[in-house]
Amino acid sequence: MKKLQDALFEQQNSKDLLKQAQQAAFKYIDNQSNQRVFPNEENIEKLTFFDESLPEATSDPVLLLELLNTVGSVNTVAQTGGRYFGFVNGNALPVTLATKWLSDVWDQNAALYVMSPIASKLESICQNWLNQLFGLPQHTVAGFVSGTSIATLSGLAAARFRQLQKLGWDVNQQGLFGAPKIRLILGRQTHGTVAKAISLLGFGQSSIEWVDCDKQGRLIVENLPQLDQSCILVLQAGNVNSGAFDDFSTLCQLANKAQAWVHIDGAFGLWAKASSMFEQQTKGMELADSWSVDPHKTLNTPYDCGIVLCKDAEALTSALHQQGSYIQLSEQRDGLLYTPEMSKRARAIELWAAMKYLGRSGIAELVEQLHSHAEFFADLLSDNGFTILNDVVFNQVILSCETEQLTQQTLSLVQQSGECWCGGSVWHEKSVIRISLCSWATTKQDILRSVNVFVEARKQALHT
Ligand SMILES: *Cc1c(COP(=O)(O)O)cnc(C)c1O
Repeated sequence: MKKLQDALFEQQNSKDLLKQAQQAAFKYIDNQSNQRVFPNEENIEKLTFFDESLPEATSDPVLLLELLNTVGSVNTVAQTGGRYFGFVNGNALPVTLATKWLSDVWDQNAALYVMSPIASKLESICQNWLNQLFGLPQHTVAGFVSGTSIATLSGLAAARFRQLQKLGWDVNQQGLFGAPKIRLILGRQTHGTVAKAISLLGFGQSSIEWVDCDKQGRLIVENLPQLDQSCILVLQAGNVNSGAFDDFSTLCQLANKAQAWVHIDGAFGLWAKASSMFEQQTKGMELADSWSVDPHKTLNTPYDCGIVLCKDAEALTSALHQQGSYIQLSEQRDGLLYTPEMSKRARAIELWAAMKYLGRSGIAELVEQLHSHAEFFADLLSDNGFTILNDVVFNQVILSCETEQLTQQTLSLVQQSGECWCGGSVWHEKSVIRISLCSWATTKQDILRSVNVFVEARKQALHT
């Protein structure tokens, strides 16, 4: 039998596996607009092909790839097409996919400059560009992480370090037992990942002071408790249901005066800053201390790609600091200083590609298109008897039918249709349908076709 290493060299040198993968990928792209948006039962049953115990010996890589292609591709969710409106999942711009392919071959570890000068350089460039795009001070630092969950964890870790230090406590040395109390001020509509980060950071849910929100899900300014330097205030650029933005100007100014820390969860909404169309919504967001944002959502880079931004570089790097006899820091940027992880993929490469390709005006055009499509979708649904429940200020639309039961049945039929897909949610204690416009590829035609699916689903639900 051939030795393993010989086989691996042969695979690498012939590039046959990459060619096979390329062919399968091209076929997938060509079939994208005909593919079901969510797999049918018949295909899902085929997933049992993967049920086997750990192989005892090496297997045929050609067959392995073929299995993944035939059973795998029909069991994907077609979120790279134009009729996927689920969660706030983004598509991938073609140039970001191409740069990811090339850099996948490089297989870089973005932890240290000495592990990848190109990754380090592009992280620095992206950091500068993000500061310019979002109107943040040039000393703001960026950490490139898996998504907003970890970005928020990182931002709140920086906040924990700094706020406790202001109270005379070094959390890195002394830990949290016996520490002065930190108050976490959150709107009731805050995304669940924030509460998770708070738990992971050891605060406990009892440290949270919940503030009521208005009809659109914005924190009610008048209900904000008195702030002081023991406070961390978390705001939202883009409510996950309605897309609403908190009143950053007023809230950040109050927080700044009181030396409270402000973190903005801007997973998909921070990108609105690129267009003057959303000036009203984003005004004052630069007054916060830290932000989380996802390129893998609105900017349409491939998964996964998240960013933590922090004005207080010392707080972020102190919170995430790591030491080791073998760690070789350099004069250049070392990515691990700004993230909880050490080893990580070089996400900044696709981010750089997206920003370099689109430029400021391209990003503006992208978010404006998502917004106008959301309005178009909402108007058509409204014309067809659905009730739109939010002000469509960005890319999110929430709607319902006459009764909760009808809403749920309609949603279920839409999801089974294979024609389009969106999720449900709960809004003001009622079941709703939730649509997110987050793909560059969605056209008006896609929306018309999807509205028909909604209309037919409601009709069918009415008759059952
Ligand atoms: C998606 C989202 C998150 C979570 O982000 P991940 O990238 O999935 O970790 C947090 N907050 C908001 C508002 C979101 O839309």
